[in-house]
Amino acid sequence: MEKIKMPTPLVEMDGDEMTRIIWKMIKDILLTPYIELNTEYYDLGLVHRNETDDQVTVDSANATKKYGVAVKCATITPNAQRMTEYNLKEMWKSPNGTIRAILDGTVFRAPIIVNGITPLIPTWKKPITIARHAYGDVYKNTEMKVSKGSKAELVVTDENGAETRELIHEFKNSDGIVQGLHNLDESIGSFARSCFNFALDVKQDLWFATKDTISKKYDHRFKDIFAEIYENEYKDKFEKAGIEYFYTLIDDAVARVVRSEGGYIWACKNYDGDVMSDMVATAFGSLGMMTSVLVSPDGVYEYEAAHGTVTRHYYKHLKGEETSTNSVATIFAWSGALKKRGQLDNVSELVFFAEKLEQATVQTIEEGVMTGDLAALSNLPEKRKVNTEQFLLEIKDRLEKLL
Ligand code: NAP
Ligand code: MG
Repeated sequence: MEKIKMPTPLVEMDGDEMTRIIWKMIKDILLTPYIELNTEYYDLGLVHRNETDDQVTVDSANATKKYGVAVKCATITPNAQRMTEYNLKEMWKSPNGTIRAILDGTVFRAPIIVNGITPLIPTWKKPITIARHAYGDVYKNTEMKVSKGSKAELVVTDENGAETRELIHEFKNSDGIVQGLHNLDESIGSFARSCFNFALDVKQDLWFATKDTISKKYDHRFKDIFAEIYENEYKDKFEKAGIEYFYTLIDDAVARVVRSEGGYIWACKNYDGDVMSDMVATAFGSLGMMTSVLVSPDGVYEYEAAHGTVTRHYYKHLKGEETSTNSVATIFAWSGALKKRGQLDNVSELVFFAEKLEQATVQTIEEGVMTGDLAALSNLPEKRKVNTEQFLLEIKDRLEKLL
């Protein structure tokens, strides 16, 4: 078979620890034998971020804007312990945060579903993709403790110096607490467009929910912005694609999600997304089976696994011990990015390859060959736990039969 050619580069962001080891194995075993990989490579491993004063992260995000598609390996977000471990010049910020800020994107997280691993909610048959608005609300709040006898007011000064003032509460009988939140029409609009675009891309319904009955201005603004953008820019496209935009109250949404079959995108405000994404991920099974894609409002895509660098396995690997680390989410990050590249460039062989790679991966697990995390969850009668590399070789065997 002749290797598949890629006319446009894919932005490749390498990373850290066990996922860096897996990254190279996936390329060597599953990709480069079949594709003339055309990537623009950025090493986001912590050592190189430190050497470049984190400029490499900014460069990789700008390259993603330029080419439109990226694939990213998990990376360490430094903390105090990493400062000494890597002898860092500074406690560099989370690369994902930096990239998200430059692309102004929304993160969509979706589980990969396989037979033999049953979600804790048995009615869930198809993936539920969660989109979290990653700006503002309680994550950019101002809060105070208030002593008894105080009066708290909300004061807004406009550009001409005119004040609008509203009483929050008179703390007559008790000490208390107070909190100020904000969001931006612009950010909510970007979030809405990313969600509508992604729904069209994957041809799934989009659900959105807030508490607009209680929060008649704040949450209501989210509802209105989504509705306006939908009416003006997306209604026709949704109808043509045969998908639906559905708004409801957050508590109603939670009840409906639990009773549903899955198979839709659930757009969440920042806090709801933080909480609900952990709930949904846990109910679907393993972190190793959760993919993540960052989508900008102008349609730039960055694919990755939702999990981290799997540090504990990496330390075992360094000691020469055998590991059984799940590479599925990282494989799907690659297949997602290759498929998107193939679609944008009209290279049908690349799209076909990416689909077969996903199929071979799922088939491997469904035939009972899996890494330790899945073996602990799977209810298949016969299963075989394999190590990190064997799992990729098993996928390769099946992939070759499908190509
Ligand atoms: P983690 O790397 O996701 O791992 C937490 C635990 O979950 C692992 O120890 C392992 O459990 C299990 N696990 C996760 N992924 C797995 C996989 N693919 N296969 C098998 N088991 C898997 O999270 P963490 O330990 O909190 O963070 C480690 C580093 O990753 C940190 O430096 C953090 O900053 C970084 N991080 C990066 C990203 C990102 O780049 N997107 C996201 C999150 C965290 P067992 O040990 O029980 O086997
Ligand atoms: Mg959370």
